[in-house]
Amino acid sequence: MLTAACTCVPQAIAQEVPKKTIVEMTEDEQVNLVREMQRTVDNAIIGAHFFSEDPLPIHVEVSVDPMTNLVLLNVDERLGPDALTSEFNDFAAHLSSALWGPMERIDGVTGIDFRFGGFDADHWPINRRPEASERSQRRRRNVDRKPLVVVSPGHGLYFHHKYKDWRAQRESANGILEDDITPVLSGHLLWELQRDNAEVKTLRYHGDRFSHKPSGESWWRLAARYHLERSDPELRDVWQSQGKDNSLKERNEDIRSRPLFANHMKADALIHIHTNADTSSEVNGLRTYIHGRPADHELASKILCSARELIRTDDDFKDFSVSSVPHVASWHAENKLARMPSVIVEVGFHTNPKDAEFLKKRDFQVLAMRGVAKGYRLYRNKLPCEEFAINPTEQVEGQINRDTQMPFSFKGNPRFPVRVWSTRLDCSGIGCQEHEYELSRQEDIGRLRIRYMCRSIQSSRVPNDEGAVIELQVKARESDRVYAKPALYRVACPKKNQSQAGRR
Ligand SMILES: [Zn+2]
Repeated sequence: MLTAACTCVPQAIAQEVPKKTIVEMTEDEQVNLVREMQRTVDNAIIGAHFFSEDPLPIHVEVSVDPMTNLVLLNVDERLGPDALTSEFNDFAAHLSSALWGPMERIDGVTGIDFRFGGFDADHWPINRRPEASERSQRRRRNVDRKPLVVVSPGHGLYFHHKYKDWRAQRESANGILEDDITPVLSGHLLWELQRDNAEVKTLRYHGDRFSHKPSGESWWRLAARYHLERSDPELRDVWQSQGKDNSLKERNEDIRSRPLFANHMKADALIHIHTNADTSSEVNGLRTYIHGRPADHELASKILCSARELIRTDDDFKDFSVSSVPHVASWHAENKLARMPSVIVEVGFHTNPKDAEFLKKRDFQVLAMRGVAKGYRLYRNKLPCEEFAINPTEQVEGQINRDTQMPFSFKGNPRFPVRVWSTRLDCSGIGCQEHEYELSRQEDIGRLRIRYMCRSIQSSRVPNDEGAVIELQVKARESDRVYAKPALYRVACPKKNQSQAGRR
């Protein structure tokens, strides 16, 4: 039984044939794809045991849905009530990992949706998203209030009712126990979101060093469910929502407590921080998983784009893989039960030695979480995720011994202050007219002028500019350490007598 898998997707496989969405495939192509996936699934589950209290064999029937571009897995109806449990989560992640090879042939955003004897998970009341609670403590939103983001550090210790002990939800690999590293990562995210003027509530805080008596462990190691039981004892329907009384009851309650609490708080977004696992140590990179609603998709896409940008600002991490599209996965209670945009960020694979090494580095943690926070900032401000780049300008006519001033602009969404500097390209030495500027806020951009003065003097270090087109390289760096793609500015310097003639 695969216990370590959280949610896993193998690396991209080289493709020769152009990809098609399911609806674009011919009937034969669809049939072949389904047949291959069916074989893969059958091999993945044969002889394996996934549910501690259900020894019966599991049947999975694969099909594809051209309408949603998703792969549908229809499993036995008896598993319906377990659709959002931790064991089903592991089972689904195992199939998802196995299927990702053939699924890579499908173009566009894709993922897996489950049916249970043909029924949607919502057929069972336990899987339905509860109506909004009337008891929310949160006052009605006013226009100026800060957005509230609930940060949910994955897993944590829970009480196992069969073994009567406190245990982690994941197994450690490469020196990382996912349960323990998620509060550390989330601590950085909390800080970055606050820096962006968001109100943040984290469900586990790694600075929480008080002792939890029943387990004898520090509070920060405990699953979110226990933190909520302590802080909000009256919210029993949040931290004790799992009806079924089995040995994994509290672990399942933990998963559900996160979106249910965010719903109670009427949060504006819910971000879950996890690290990923796969049976193969080759699989790597940062991924996001969503239930598939449009707002989830928008938030997840901006998180991926910004995380890629920020992580790669450090040369040590410039080859770190970040997936290009969010993955749709219907089995995560953490997303499904949330009433607001909800995204699971799998920061890297702790089962991959290189990813694990990065995950332990503070610099990597900060950059990855800064990227997640920036993704939320873009989502919240309805800004596109675009490359930070200086816009080119037309060549301008200069005048000898007079300052030429050129307007400046860029695209992208940098964090201010932004440092801008211009350097003459063919000059090395003193007198090259290197200028430096600082933009402390967005409004400063329109006022900035890049300056250059055409010279009529010649020295051993600086050539005479008369009659030459001078090229300036204009660069910028924002306070998150992202460098802009530079641009060349050109100044045509006149001959001295031309310039004087022009002035008469
Ligand atoms: Zn996880």
